[in-house]
Amino acid sequence: MSSASTELVSLLQDLTRIESINPSLSAAGSGELEVARYLENYCRKRNLPCELHEVKDGRPNFITWIPGQYPDRRILFIAHTDTVPVDKWDTNPFSGEVRDGRIHGRGSCDTKGSLATMLTALSTLGERKPKATVVLVASIDEEFRKIGARAVADSGVAYEAAVVGEPTNLELVVAHKGSVRWQVEVEGVPAHSSRPHLGVNAITGMAKLVLALDAHNEVLNKRENALVGPPALTVSLIEGGIELTTVPPACRIWIDRRLTPGEPPQNALQEVEDIFESFRNGKDKIKVRSLLPALEDPAPKSAEGSRIAEVAANACANVAGTGKYIGAPWGTDASQLDGIPCVVIGPGSMAQAHTSNEFIDISQLDKAVEIYQQIMLNY
Ligand SMILES: [Zn+2]
Repeated sequence: MSSASTELVSLLQDLTRIESINPSLSAAGSGELEVARYLENYCRKRNLPCELHEVKDGRPNFITWIPGQYPDRRILFIAHTDTVPVDKWDTNPFSGEVRDGRIHGRGSCDTKGSLATMLTALSTLGERKPKATVVLVASIDEEFRKIGARAVADSGVAYEAAVVGEPTNLELVVAHKGSVRWQVEVEGVPAHSSRPHLGVNAITGMAKLVLALDAHNEVLNKRENALVGPPALTVSLIEGGIELTTVPPACRIWIDRRLTPGEPPQNALQEVEDIFESFRNGKDKIKVRSLLPALEDPAPKSAEGSRIAEVAANACANVAGTGKYIGAPWGTDASQLDGIPCVVIGPGSMAQAHTSNEFIDISQLDKAVEIYQQIMLNY
C-alpha cells in the first residue's frame, strides 16, 4: 500500500461505497444527497463549517470553507458528487475495495478522488491560514447539465479563481472544450411505400443533411487550437420512420458539437443553420428545423496568464513534476463558472473515468492533497 494516510483512503472508500448515480442519466440513480450528508457529518466531526444548498428536488450542493486572512477574497475548489451509471462491471461497482494499490468502484476516479483529496487538504491545514477564503463545493449534476456549478455561479458570491477537481493525473489543465447539443428534425410526407412518389421521404432528406454535416466536420477539423485541438461535430443519434411500408414522415438526429475556448455556442449553431438553409432553398426543398433550446456548455476561457494558473503550475511542479499548461477535449464544471479563471487538476486518469471497473491509484492521493494545499496557501 502506498503512503496515503489511512484516513484519506477510508474517506475515499466511503464516498465510493455511496451510490450517487445522476438520476437524470439513469432512473435508478440515487443522486447526490447521501454523499452530501456524509460530508456534512465528516465536517461536523472536525468542527468545519458546512451547508447544504438544495439545487433541485433533494439534490444539494455541499459547501465547506476556511476563512482567509483577507476574507473578501475567495478561491473556489469544486468537485462533483454525481457519477455516471454502471454497466457490465465484473465486480461490485460500489465495493470501494483496495486492491493492487488502487481503490476500485464507480466514482473513485471521476471524481470522488478529487473531492476526498480537496476535503483532506482543507481539513488538515491546521494552523496554516490561507490568504484568500477557501470555499470547497461538492457539486451535483456535473455529468448531465451542471446545474450544481450553475447554482454556484448564480449564488452572487464572487470568486477570484477556481480549481476544478477532475482526473488529470495531477497534470495542470488550463483550457478545455465545451459543447452544444441539440436535436434536428426533417419533416416528410407519408405515403404507402408501393407509391413512394406520392410522399416525401424524411430519412432520405436527413441522409443528405448528415453527409453535409460530416463535410462540415472536416472543415472544423482544420481550425486548429494549440491547447485543446480543433472543434468537432458528431451526429450521435438518429431515429426515423414509423413502419416498414410507409414513406417516413419524420426523421430526427442529435448533434454534439464540441466548442473550443472563445467559440460562442451561438456561432456553432448558426454555421449549421446556414447549411440547413441551403438545403431548404436547394432542389430538394428539405423541410428541416432545429429543435431548440440547445444544451449549452460553453468552453471556458483559457486560464493561461492568470494568477491561479501560475500558482497551480508551481504547486504541480513542486509536488509532482507536472505543471506544464495542457488542454483537454472533455468538459467540466468550469464551463458554468462564467469567466472566473479556472484550472483543472486531480488525481486519477480520465482513461478510467466512465469505464467499467473504474479505479484510482492511491499513490496519487497524497500528492493531490499537497498540490491543493500549496494552492490554498499561496494564492
Ligand atoms: Zn467528472
